[in-house]
Amino acid sequence: MADFRAVLIRKDGDAQHAELTQLAPVELMEGDVTVAVSHSTVNYKDGLALTGRAPVVRRFPMIPGIDFAGMVQESASDVFRPGDKVLLNGWGVGEAHFGGYAELARVKSEWLIPLPAEFSPAEAMAIGTAGYTAMLALLALEDADVTPNKGPVLVTGASGGVGSVAIALLAKLGFHVIASTGRTEEVYLKQLGAAEINPRSDLSGEAKPLAKERWAAAVDSVGSKTLANVLAATKYGGAVAACGLAQGMDLPTSVAPFILRGVSLLGIESVYAPRERRLLAWSRLARDLDRDKLAAITQTIGLGDVFEAAEEILAGKVRGRLVIDMSR
Ligand code: NDP
Repeated sequence: MADFRAVLIRKDGDAQHAELTQLAPVELMEGDVTVAVSHSTVNYKDGLALTGRAPVVRRFPMIPGIDFAGMVQESASDVFRPGDKVLLNGWGVGEAHFGGYAELARVKSEWLIPLPAEFSPAEAMAIGTAGYTAMLALLALEDADVTPNKGPVLVTGASGGVGSVAIALLAKLGFHVIASTGRTEEVYLKQLGAAEINPRSDLSGEAKPLAKERWAAAVDSVGSKTLANVLAATKYGGAVAACGLAQGMDLPTSVAPFILRGVSLLGIESVYAPRERRLLAWSRLARDLDRDKLAAITQTIGLGDVFEAAEEILAGKVRGRLVIDMSR
């Protein structure tokens, strides 16, 4: 196997820096499957890893990239053969194990799932960990008996990756979607299927313990005061899927929504989700995600563009999803 291009993050004292470099296959970490990566993506967490703004990377040097799609090149596993198309989300890849920002990845076979036949590698990465997390949130709401007849569903961080995919999915399934956004993206959000747009500022200040009941459920990628306001305005018996922390890690709320309205707060975790849940999420994405909408939320960049993209996603400037095409 020939040398390959990779983004490498090194640590020098307290400072970290990332660069595009060439590595030899022998420098990859251990694993029973080697994958020729054709596509990866830029998630919020990749932005944190690349810039070092949060301690996402737990080992240096590190190839970032928490997900990738590609074709098996070598395999010592009984499950995958050379030529199989595969997909990986999470498992600490890009954090503690070399990740997807490289033309070659070597990983444990149990971390890989077969690429669903309905998706190209580029489409799978247009969905990426953000879209797969949006589906995990939808599955959690369904498990909590949230149905379209119960009332509207709020999606916060609406123009981001998790938010955009969540809107497309919920709208396709017949939910009345309220999109909460800090941007003037009305046309984009309505094309995805949002029925109403709510300004982010409405939910970002101090929360009261309870507020007027406005939605039956929510998908929240923002956390902090926004999540507190979301809970306070959730209808009796409703459910909120908490996915993210774009506003902050804190949650300044009270028990009032839980004990006075029977609201459920559902935690969503994608990195170590069990294999069966992943397979279910990806099969539901194949069934419920409109391909035209996926194309409309996706932009494609090259591996050398990830440094700028990392800054942009942390600044809340990326709309929808960014796919990295290794051939660019
Ligand atoms: P994006 O950056 O694409 O989306 C986040 C969105 O949040 C932005 O587009 C913006 O939406 C909104 N936002 C940004 N900053 C603020 C702020 N200060 N206050 C309020 N809203 C803000 O990120 P992703 O969609 O990739 O990820 C979203 C979150 O979900 C992240 O926190 C990420 O870490 C988390 N996540 C968690 C996973 C899990 O396993 N639990 C897996 C994947 C992601 P708008 O401009 O429309 O307001």
